[in-house]
Amino acid sequence: MSADALLPLLKSTFGFDHFRGRQAEVVDRVMARERTLAVMPTGAGKSLTYQLPAVALDGCVVVVSPLIALMHDQLRGARAAGIRAASLTSVDMDGAETRQAYRDGTLDLLYVAPERATGEGFRALLEARTPALFAIDEAHCVSEWGHDFRPDYRLLRPLLDAFPQVPRLALTATADKHTREDILVQLGIPDDGLILAGFDRPNIRYAIRPRISPARQLLDFIAANPGPGIVYAPTRSGTERLAEQLATATGRRVAAYHAGLDSEIRARVQHDFVASEDGIVTATVAFGMGIDKPDVRFVAHAALPKSIESYYQETGRGGRDGDPAETLMLWGANDFATARVRLAELPEARVAGERARLNALAVLVETVECRRAALLRHFGENPPMNCGNCDNCLDPAAQVDATVLAQKLLSAVYRTGQSYGAGHIEAVLTGRSDERIVGRGHDKLSVFGIVEGEEARLIKPLVRSLMAREALSTTEHGGLMLGPAAKPVLKGEAPVLMAEPPLKRTKRDPRGAGAAANPVGDPLFDALRATRRELAQEAGVPPYVIFHDAVLRAMANERPTNRSALSTIPGVGAKKLDAWGDAFLAVIDQY
Ligand code: ADP
Ligand code: ZN
Repeated sequence: MSADALLPLLKSTFGFDHFRGRQAEVVDRVMARERTLAVMPTGAGKSLTYQLPAVALDGCVVVVSPLIALMHDQLRGARAAGIRAASLTSVDMDGAETRQAYRDGTLDLLYVAPERATGEGFRALLEARTPALFAIDEAHCVSEWGHDFRPDYRLLRPLLDAFPQVPRLALTATADKHTREDILVQLGIPDDGLILAGFDRPNIRYAIRPRISPARQLLDFIAANPGPGIVYAPTRSGTERLAEQLATATGRRVAAYHAGLDSEIRARVQHDFVASEDGIVTATVAFGMGIDKPDVRFVAHAALPKSIESYYQETGRGGRDGDPAETLMLWGANDFATARVRLAELPEARVAGERARLNALAVLVETVECRRAALLRHFGENPPMNCGNCDNCLDPAAQVDATVLAQKLLSAVYRTGQSYGAGHIEAVLTGRSDERIVGRGHDKLSVFGIVEGEEARLIKPLVRSLMAREALSTTEHGGLMLGPAAKPVLKGEAPVLMAEPPLKRTKRDPRGAGAAANPVGDPLFDALRATRRELAQEAGVPPYVIFHDAVLRAMANERPTNRSALSTIPGVGAKKLDAWGDAFLAVIDQY
């Protein structure tokens, strides 16, 4: 049976009219019993490619998944769609019942942790009844090249090979070329079984700004984004400070999350966030690994992330439901300085690679061109020049040639002895003869007062820019000194182009075009949300398990008056229609 033939089932089970992206190709292969590796970005809808076959096929689909929280989240979603699903992990107390149901053939979908899957008992269970499909989620865990190698994954191969006729579907969101090849080999999937979807997440808006007044910038950003969101900060104390500030200033519920908190608190923060419709978490990068909240509406970085890969992954936690999500990264020159100090502490073998990662980040934050294009090029794609949904596309900055100014600035740093901060250098260049300058004889230098008027306001942004590209670095005491990339600039071999500082840029509606944000002040939409909240509480699930925001929005727009009209809205499957349809119709009826 082809994917097309499953369209009615796609509609009745999940309420979707079409496959998305490359889902249909994956499902086609699965239904043809071909071994497949699907590499698709977060939010592409990987789980549907085995959940739909789970409903269509006789027999049970066995899903290996490494994170219990993620598994349970999927389980809730699958059950809400009417799929007979269960999980076998160390925290599931109903193991005996689950095994019995599997033997009886009354399960469509069985999630199992890798350490369970590789045990003797599990193999015996599968021998009693052959599964319909093996789905191996987070398949990069099988590769030592991947960023999250798990030895248990290596033990899966004998289990898979014990059932050679059962098709296998490996899935991952993040695998570079090397890792992909390794996964194919490790899991016995042929080369032509690879389905590689693009990295683009069109519903995520990227914005990157110099950090000028971080509290103000974050607050403005959050004020424009009432939905749930994550703010990443580099340090544990930073997350706590931010949580307090943001809570006081916004009146919203803000919790800090980092590895130093005890696990009970972490679990609670995570649980509350998943259930919330407007919660904020300030977190170190540890947050988000095990959660699968589809309605995260914004992701902010209070400082430079570790690499483009981490930036992509962290921003990728926004907008999994396909609705618009906004991101904002704030970066400062000292972020690069700190990162470069850390480079020096690394083992020799890793320095070159890490330096390249940092330089790639510098290019991303500095570019006046499309951010999305820069990101996608980093992942080896060949994207269009203009995405229409990033800060640079929506509000293009002019580029200025700052080569000569950069030479003046670097000379001033050099001639003052490479130990003063940006403020002093600026004073020298603009010819401010205050006590400190006269006292040190800096008013006698050839660089004194050689920058005037308009150009002066470029000095601070240029310092940032030169720091990012390592033409400047900092001394132990925070003074500026020349970095390895200074020489080519001074010799006129490397042009310095930079974005016109944001001061002069016109301010536009931060939501801009294309963002289908939730209607503000639509009483019907609000009432639908309130009903969803009540139903979620009754059922003990997060609100998005009932219906996503997009579904409520469509209800508010189309105002269906009966079940059959309601069932045409994407996301309304038969099971959900039965369980909750009438409650929502009753609300619509009142408006
Ligand atoms: P991934 O595992 O790839 O990150 P998920 O499987 O969690 O993505 O799916 C992301 C979201 O996309 C889910 O909320 C899901 O309901 C939605 N989705 C999946 N397939 C479709 C489709 N064909 N049409 C509309 N929405 C879909
Ligand atoms: Zn763009």
